[in-house]
Amino acid sequence: MLAILEELSMARSRSAAAHGPEPDEVQTQAGDALVSRLPSLRATLEEQHLFRSEQLARLEACSRQQVPSDSGAQEAVLALREVDELLAAGARRALTDIELALVRMHTGRYGDCRSCGNAIPLTLLEAIPKTTLCLACQHRDERAGHQALRRKPTTGRRRRQSNDPVGPARQR
Ligand SMILES: [Zn+2]
Repeated sequence: MLAILEELSMARSRSAAAHGPEPDEVQTQAGDALVSRLPSLRATLEEQHLFRSEQLARLEACSRQQVPSDSGAQEAVLALREVDELLAAGARRALTDIELALVRMHTGRYGDCRSCGNAIPLTLLEAIPKTTLCLACQHRDERAGHQALRRKPTTGRRRRQSNDPVGPARQR
């Protein structure tokens, strides 16, 4: 929830800045409102992509540094490293989401839920441009995620087939 609030405030400060009109290869059937907002949503996504890439590079550089040999400092460094690892995991997740959203812009499927196919409300896209799931599917995903965490991972799960986020549209 905190992450979403953070994104919201980031999105708000950004949407004021980004207003470049450049209607390019947009072949989505979604509403005109979304089409007219795509350039600025794309600009925001690209900005966030850059931000997350830099953040990740910084964190990875830190994690490569030597751990000092005296035990007091060692403990502190290891504790910090744990925090960095959490931040890096968050950055990686965000990058994956952002890339997926950008790919869907290219294939003209941005704004459609990648799970159920329903249109995602523009207000949600404006707030969190990397969203590729409608709220209902997000909640279902979160619940499934929590359950998966609670349970031990079962062997031979069969959720592999539809791993390609882009789908058939890519192989023209
Ligand atoms: Zn959905």
